Amino acid sequence: MEASMYHKYYGQMGHAKAPVVDFGNLSYLLLDKYEAELQRMVRSAELWHGPMQGTRLRPGQVYLVPYAVEHYAALVRPLHIWPFPQAHHHHTARLPLHNATLLLADPRLSPYMRLLPSKGMQPAAAHRAAVDCTAICARLGRVCRQQDFWFINTCEVLREHFACERGCSIELGRDVPGYVIEPGLPTSQVCLVNQQQPWLTTCATSEPSTKTLETMRKFSEQYARRTETYFCVDKSVTAVVIKGLAEHKDELGAPLCPCRHYDDKRLEAEQGFWNCPCVPMRERKECHCMLFLTEDNDFRGEDNKITLNEVVEATKGLSGVQG
Ligand code: SF4
Repeated sequence: MEASMYHKYYGQMGHAKAPVVDFGNLSYLLLDKYEAELQRMVRSAELWHGPMQGTRLRPGQVYLVPYAVEHYAALVRPLHIWPFPQAHHHHTARLPLHNATLLLADPRLSPYMRLLPSKGMQPAAAHRAAVDCTAICARLGRVCRQQDFWFINTCEVLREHFACERGCSIELGRDVPGYVIEPGLPTSQVCLVNQQQPWLTTCATSEPSTKTLETMRKFSEQYARRTETYFCVDKSVTAVVIKGLAEHKDELGAPLCPCRHYDDKRLEAEQGFWNCPCVPMRERKECHCMLFLTEDNDFRGEDNKITLNEVVEATKGLSGVQG
C-alpha cells in the first residue's frame, strides 16, 4: 500500500496505535460450537418478564429476553443498544450487561426458541374486499388468530394455500396479508403481502385496498380542481373522508358519502343520490363532509392537494365511515 493511502485511511484508526491483544482460544466461535453453546444457554436461561427499565440483574446469571421486532424499540434505551436488531446470530444476540448475560431472541425467527404458527393453521380467503377476518373465519366455522398473520405474510406461503392467479402484490393496511376471491376488484385473485407492518394486521379490521384509496384520492384532487374548491385546513379531515369513500367503494362498489347514516347502504348506493359527488355538491357546491370547501369557507386550506402517504398516515387504525 502506498504511504499516502495508509495515512489517509488506516493511520487515523485507533487500532493502528493500540497494542496487540491476544484474544486467546477463539475456537468457541466456530459455527457448530457457537450454535451448541447458544442452544445450551437459551435452554438454561432465566426467562425475562416485564420491562427492562430499572432492572436489577444478578451477576453471572443468563437471562432470555424474547422480543418481537415491532417492540424492539422498548429495549433500546435501557440496554443502550442499536435502534434495530444488530450483531445477532439467526435473530439471537448475546449481550453482556452488569456482569450478567442477556440473550435477545425473536421467537418467531430464532431457531433456538422457534415459535410456530397455531397447530393446523389454515389461511382462509376473503370472499369479498372490505370484510374482516373474524367474519371470514366465522363463515367457515374457524377462529382467526392474530399471531398467525406473521407466518402467512409471504408470497410463497400464500401461494401454497391460494391460486394467486394474478400474482402477488404489496399492499398497506391492517387487513393484509390476504387473498380476495370476488371478481371485478383491482385486487381480485391477487395474493396481497403486507410489506410494511404485518404485526399490525388484526382479525377485526377491514381496510380499503391501496388502489381504491389512490383512486378516491385522485378523484378528490381532480374534482376539487374542476369545481375550484379547496381541501380543509386540517388535512386529517380530508384524509378520513377519502378513506371513508374508499371503504364504501370496496364494500358497495360505489363511493357512497361516508358522513351520513343509512338504514340500507346498498339501496342508497344503487339510488346514487349520495354517491360522491352527491347531488347537493353537484348542484350547489354543498359538501357537508368538508371534503370540498368553497373559497369563502372559514375552514378552507390553501390548496386541494393531498398525497397517498398523508391519507394513510392520518387514518391509521381509523375507519372513515360514520354511523
Ligand atoms: S357530502 Fe357529497 S361531495 Fe361531500 S364527501 Fe359526501 S358525497 Fe362527497
